[in-house]
Amino acid sequence: MGTSHEALKHSIIETCLRLEAAGYFVSTWGNVSARVPEGFIVTPSRIQYDLMTPDDLVTVSPEGAVLDGRRLPSSEAEVHRLVLNARDDVGAVIHSHSSCATAVACLQRPIPPFVEDLAQIVGGAINCTRYVPGSHHSELAEEVVARLGEVNAVLLANHGVLCCGRDLAEAFVTSQIVERAAFMMLSAASIGPVTVIPPQEVEAERHRFLYKYGTKDDFDEAE
Ligand SMILES: [Zn+2]
Repeated sequence: MGTSHEALKHSIIETCLRLEAAGYFVSTWGNVSARVPEGFIVTPSRIQYDLMTPDDLVTVSPEGAVLDGRRLPSSEAEVHRLVLNARDDVGAVIHSHSSCATAVACLQRPIPPFVEDLAQIVGGAINCTRYVPGSHHSELAEEVVARLGEVNAVLLANHGVLCCGRDLAEAFVTSQIVERAAFMMLSAASIGPVTVIPPQEVEAERHRFLYKYGTKDDFDEAE
């Protein structure tokens, strides 16, 4: 099993480096996971991303047993595990402490779907959890799953943000869209509250992104 997921492990490390370059990961705070048939692969605890090698990544079963890897999994692996167990449609999870999303999480407010890319890739309002101390891993994981619901992102009160996607590339884009939306929400707050897109249009945009984006159907509908 040690080398069977080599390409995916390289992609996870590359994703970490991109998140660090974007300023979303600082020092070793932030973790990434991706689903594999036997469970999921997750980044290890307390290893600098630029020093991380595929051998440092840890494979964990859906029940939480370490299947492969010499390192300890991230202390937040429990959050990844419960999200992946709860959501068959999710193939990758990114947890970061990106600045603007964390700022909104410190307000303990949701980010409403007020911009189309958020409706498309997240699928609705981004809820915020109640505050759970980071050391309470199981309680935090359960709260994250409950507040994530069926959308692709959730704010962790006074802590950070968790973003999902069908694969690593999409989870990375979700992280970018959520951070950008948080920035816009904070910027707009100087003038007034943002105007939210009506629920039926949020649903239509999500459906368009999932099933029509980049196809001829999308062009036909736009006319
Ligand atoms: Zn964290």
